[in-house]
Amino acid sequence: MAIIIFGTRARVVPDSSAGKQTTTCRYCGDVVTMEPVRNKRYFTLFFVPVFPLEKGESAWRCPNCKKLFLRRE
Ligand SMILES: [Zn+2]
Repeated sequence: MAIIIFGTRARVVPDSSAGKQTTTCRYCGDVVTMEPVRNKRYFTLFFVPVFPLEKGESAWRCPNCKKLFLRRE
């Protein structure tokens, strides 16, 4: 008998369409180069993300504390 396990999982992926930004992180207080990312929900099959279900939220990610900050497009 075959059992198919599927679900969804949020995943943060780099957004190559936006440039990086050097700023002071509001969370850890360090001057960092923020990475543009997208917070997407993926369809998963056997716990492996297969394809994104949505365009995803735009955000900056601090490379120091990994905190996400919403980004305007
Ligand atoms: Zn930070």
